[in-house]
Amino acid sequence: MMNIGIVGLGLIGGSVGLDLRNLGYRIFGVSRREQTCQKAIALGVVDEASLELSLLSIADLIFICTPICDIIPTLEQLIPFLSPSAILTDVGSVKIPIMEGVSQIWPNFVGGHPLAGKTASGIEVAQLGLFENRPYVLTPNGNTPLESVEKVEAIARLLKSQVYLCDPYEHDRAVAWISHLPVMASASLIAACMSETNPTIVKLAQELASSGFQDTTRVGGGNPELGRMMAQYNSLEMLRSLYSFRDEIDEFIQHIEQKNWLILEQKLRYTQQNRKLFLHHES
Ligand code: NAP
Repeated sequence: MMNIGIVGLGLIGGSVGLDLRNLGYRIFGVSRREQTCQKAIALGVVDEASLELSLLSIADLIFICTPICDIIPTLEQLIPFLSPSAILTDVGSVKIPIMEGVSQIWPNFVGGHPLAGKTASGIEVAQLGLFENRPYVLTPNGNTPLESVEKVEAIARLLKSQVYLCDPYEHDRAVAWISHLPVMASASLIAACMSETNPTIVKLAQELASSGFQDTTRVGGGNPELGRMMAQYNSLEMLRSLYSFRDEIDEFIQHIEQKNWLILEQKLRYTQQNRKLFLHHES
């Protein structure tokens, strides 16, 4: 059985560790803070933890689960410790900058992105089964050894994910629509509600907010650092989707201003029918 390394013991890294350790793999974890390493051991996420990347010299497969901006620097620092046959993979929400950055450094790298998350972040919220029934995208390029893709794919299936292979460009454009745009749309919704100037109304709205508000604001109330990095590292596609979103909002405003009630309802019928095309993973 392979030894698994994980760098970045947070929500995603911790959840990968919990699942794979439960399946009998030996897990070696590296994180930035000593406190997190101790928690990872206490929570059963890893067998051994350290602040030093040298711990991973015995790992056969290493998951880089740091924030997006630290993925390539982490990989560079790992190189001196890696066994020549080590396979590296990451879980970053953006793939073009990672695949471009990695190709010169360590070709035995399989870009990955599990589409599973939570509002909270950090090792405390790591969860067994987080990836179950969720998509897990792999973005190999022409240099990626096929055997390594197959090994990472097999691990993603052990996490009970549904595996998809695509190129990094397709990945970044697709996730802009269904993951990165929703973060900004949902954040705008919260910010708009906070623009109410009457304190009595604000208080009442806060008390009345129920499941609809909870559903539509979950991702806008998530990890701000992650949202910032989605925008920073996938700017082009994020802007494309946001411009389109702005056009849609403008269209709704126009229909309401012009009292086009029938057209508005037709539009809502169209969105009602099309929503389900995106939600076939729901369990
Ligand atoms: P997170 O809960 O904040 O976990 C990241 C952890 O990495 C932090 O807790 C931190 O641990 C550690 N870390 C930070 N810099 C490090 C470094 N230079 N070296 C080693 N460890 C470092 O964030 P996350 O949500 O798990 O996100 C991690 C990655 O998963 C990101 O690349 C993100 O794009 C991707 N992702 C996130 C989601 C999601 O919805 N959350 C979904 C799919 C993919 P310390 O406590 O030790 O500082």
